[in-house]
Amino acid sequence: MSALTASPALQTIGLSKSFGGFKANADISLSVARGARHALIGPNGAGKTTFINLLTGVLPVSSGTIALMGEDITGVSQQGRVRRGMARTYQINQLFADLSPIETVGLAIAERQGAGARWWSRVGQNSAVIDEAEALLLRMKLGGLMTRRTATLPYGKQRLLEIALAMACQPSLLLLDEPAAGVPEDERHDVLDSVEALPEDVTVLLIEHDMELVFSFADRISVLVQGQLFAQGSVEEISTDPRVRSVYLGEDTHV
Ligand code: ADP
Ligand code: MG
Repeated sequence: MSALTASPALQTIGLSKSFGGFKANADISLSVARGARHALIGPNGAGKTTFINLLTGVLPVSSGTIALMGEDITGVSQQGRVRRGMARTYQINQLFADLSPIETVGLAIAERQGAGARWWSRVGQNSAVIDEAEALLLRMKLGGLMTRRTATLPYGKQRLLEIALAMACQPSLLLLDEPAAGVPEDERHDVLDSVEALPEDVTVLLIEHDMELVFSFADRISVLVQGQLFAQGSVEEISTDPRVRSVYLGEDTHV
């Protein structure tokens, strides 16, 4: 195995982000193994979304480096990172409210293929695109809802469509920022099942508040507190770590 293929899917070294004098991310060195199911947890305001924004290039870093599959991408544009295999979920329920899931995902696949297709009348006749879009939507438990207007879907299904849309980029690394946030209790298992059914060769970094989801999904967990990596380990180690528990229960946040 060459040094490059042996490299982690994602590696940050000393990653920091300051907003004025406030350090939202402080010296984060995090490694996500290829094919991992890695969760990043931490209390509200810990800096999790900021970290994702640095990884995806939405925000420039203050210092530190980011490597994707062994390649330094710290200075690469957002689109360049997507082309190199990094995808994230967005809140699409406003963006694509008037389209159906099959149109939304079909257009994204056509775009990935460089068809530059903006018009459904054309994309809708491309059977390879439609087949791929259908397979993706079935995997995301949207099989019976493919032609419904997105705005009318239950919220959990809309969140699953966001994941399907990210998967349409054929990512090697998928970043999920709280996929179950705001999803009603009775739909939560749908999201959990679909996230667990993601293809094994896709490395997943999941940010999530729902501990049930995190513990059933992850093979490795990193805990962020006040912008710093606070603990890392297996589900077993993190779920039984009294320091982590105390942070979550708010009993002792100045550990
Ligand atoms: P989390 O996702 O863990 O809840 P965030 O990364 O959203 O945390 O936020 C971490 C901290 O950084 C918060 O205190 C937040 O107010 C601050 N923050 C995030 N983005 C900005 C910004 N663009 N400008 C100033 N402060 C920000
Ligand atoms: Mg957040």
